[in-house]
Amino acid sequence: MITILRRLHHIAAAPALLLGVGLSSGSLIGCAAHGDLDALGPGLVDPSSPYVVALGTAQDGGLPQIGCARECCVTAREDPSRARLVTSLLLVDPRDGRRWLFDATPDIARQVERARGLGGPPEDAPGRPALFDGIFITHAHLGHVVGLLQLGREAYGSAPVPLIGTERMARFLGSNGPWSLLFDGGYARPEILQPNETLNLAEDLSVTAIQVPHRDEFTDTVAFLIRGPERSVLYLPDIDKWERWDRRLEDVIAGVDVALVDGTFYGPAELPGRDMSQVPHPFIVETLERIAPLPEAERGKVVFTHLNHSNPATDPTSDAAAAVRAAGSSILDDGDRIGL
Ligand SMILES: [Zn+2]
Ligand SMILES: [Zn+2]
Ligand SMILES: [Zn+2]
Repeated sequence: MITILRRLHHIAAAPALLLGVGLSSGSLIGCAAHGDLDALGPGLVDPSSPYVVALGTAQDGGLPQIGCARECCVTAREDPSRARLVTSLLLVDPRDGRRWLFDATPDIARQVERARGLGGPPEDAPGRPALFDGIFITHAHLGHVVGLLQLGREAYGSAPVPLIGTERMARFLGSNGPWSLLFDGGYARPEILQPNETLNLAEDLSVTAIQVPHRDEFTDTVAFLIRGPERSVLYLPDIDKWERWDRRLEDVIAGVDVALVDGTFYGPAELPGRDMSQVPHPFIVETLERIAPLPEAERGKVVFTHLNHSNPATDPTSDAAAAVRAAGSSILDDGDRIGL
């Protein structure tokens, strides 16, 4: 974590925007003590500036993953500091207490607890107020939409929350059970944000949808670019391969301050016997190779998230994690915060 602070230090334009525990001012990413996220509280938040916090950093199946008897998950079951919830981001505007969720994971109940006190409705609000001012959804795979079901009548029974996604996403949710019950029962309502469209959340806070190639069985897939008063953060948990994108990764990195990108697999050794070009994610080693010619400041913007349980870089003491750091990039941890 210290390494992340150092690596990203140079892109911190202004001091003290950063939040979290024990941070040096000017750092871009703050973190909680790993495994102690539920202890995060409102006292840690700079009241003047929006920020994002990672509520989870694992691939859709989480870490530990169901039924996995290999060392990756045995270790994570024994040592909670090695566990990761499924990838999700919380955007908080402490100026008025509004907050937005990015992706609704199978871990949403625990993630709502992690988000307690970070904006949101007052604890003593009557009824079942919406827990978020909106939920941005990248696509319709397990890790990104299953959590929505917790908002319906069988569980939270939420006041209507805007589900923000593309037209195809709105159609998917509205025409497929059990999600359709969210709209039918008034627990949620669709809000369409098409690729290249920007939703202004405040005068100096906005979210833009960016189409990315991914296994689009049910919906298209988007990344989200979050722009705050001082900084911008790209949230891109899933993409097939950089080469299949109609944008150049290098250009995208140049246009943001932090790029949270698909780090599902570290390298081909995790998938023995599979043709590397057919795996629908960029391996971390491929991304590092691609950005190797870029200046250090650009490489330092790249932060990997959405890590598969098999990914050795989930262990900060691994050679894989060390290689990511040596390349000038970093791995996102649950609880990391980035000031906007
Ligand atoms: Zn995913
Ligand atoms: Zn495992
Ligand atoms: Zn996916």
